[in-house]
Amino acid sequence: MLDVGFVGWRGMVGSVLLERMREEGDFAGLAPGFYSTSSPGGPGPTDLGFETGRLGDAHDVAALARHDVIVTCQGGDYTKAVHPRLRAVGWNGYWIDAASALRMEPGTVLVLDPVNADVIAEGLASGRRDFCGANCTVSILLMAFAGLFRAGLVEWMTSMTYQAASGAGAAHVRELAAQMAAIGEAVQGPLADPATTALAVDRSVREVLAADGFPTDRFGAPLAASLLPWIDRPIGDGQSREEGKAFEEGNKILGIVGPKNPDPIPIDGICVRVGSMRCHAHAVTVKLREDRPVDEIEALIAGAHEWVRVVENTPEATLAGLTPAAVSGRLDIAVGRIRKLRMGGEYLTAFSVGDQLLWGAAEPLRRMLGILRSHLGKVRPATEAEAA
Ligand code: NAP
Repeated sequence: MLDVGFVGWRGMVGSVLLERMREEGDFAGLAPGFYSTSSPGGPGPTDLGFETGRLGDAHDVAALARHDVIVTCQGGDYTKAVHPRLRAVGWNGYWIDAASALRMEPGTVLVLDPVNADVIAEGLASGRRDFCGANCTVSILLMAFAGLFRAGLVEWMTSMTYQAASGAGAAHVRELAAQMAAIGEAVQGPLADPATTALAVDRSVREVLAADGFPTDRFGAPLAASLLPWIDRPIGDGQSREEGKAFEEGNKILGIVGPKNPDPIPIDGICVRVGSMRCHAHAVTVKLREDRPVDEIEALIAGAHEWVRVVENTPEATLAGLTPAAVSGRLDIAVGRIRKLRMGGEYLTAFSVGDQLLWGAAEPLRRMLGILRSHLGKVRPATEAEAA
């Protein structure tokens, strides 16, 4: 039985992970232990259909070291504090992590198996022990356009993002909802009077956005009725850290790094936070290596894996199937608005949207645990001589 320690299970990513594991029956045959950074000794998750016991202390390295696998959705600071200590005491287990702290370490494999099952298999075969989910926006982008990358058609790609509040964590989602509630309260009176002009309604919204006490502690500015074209910290050259991840992590997921592949694919753009709850979207421009007809491109995108869904480029199909509201809570990644740009037959545009808490965060980790289980099931037990 695989012994798995779960840390960070009550956050946005962790709670979706447990929900998906319960839905898929993944706990059967697992011996799970649950940990907390804030309330060790408190009750574990109550809705998994089995007794979870008291929470362990997520900083207790000796307790963590008893598990074969640690799955953490706690965050980068936690990873930086605990992972080196665990390795330092000789723990040789598997570390599966949602955070960014270890992603670009040379020994870490980025997991997104519908796109890079080969990279994961190679990592396991070569004895890698650290497996991290990639950035949510990057994972959704690669899930959407895996078919084009796989066909070797992408010379470069721009990715202009429309990112949900959930990408920043539970507290940010609450703040977006609180902002919406404050706006709702401010316009309730004006909207109740049919004679109120749209400009008067707009004035009420503007006033509440600028009012003292409007909740902006997390985002630093109003997100509801607005947008925020900067995510995370600057990394130089006018780029945000979030924007840098498309290139860095995108190429690492695809396995386009190292001496065999010296030429990574340029992927870049502007990352924008919008008032969507849990779905990230991208408007992309792709410079194709060669002109191919749109129907062939659609077939390549649709054929990449079972979760991608091509949406017909019509207003009706787009509004029905290519929005955050349409894909929220679903595993399918929608790709539409596919057409050639005026710049020429090698310039393609498209729009993609996916639930970032699923394929952008929890699902790659859940599936990595499954891949690991079957990998370990196949591993021959050490002989007595080897063990000695
Ligand atoms: P989160 O919602 O902020 O949760 C992280 C931890 O914060 C929880 O496990 C919990 O730990 C603690 N916490 C404090 N107040 C909480 C509250 N009101 N509700 C729930 N938990 C609370 O963070 P997250 O968005 O899940 O992200 C976790 C990691 O995954 C981060 O490193 C993030 O960068 C990465 N990631 C996130 C996403 C995403 O979509 N959000 C996508 C990919 C990767 P204790 O139980 O120990 O107190």
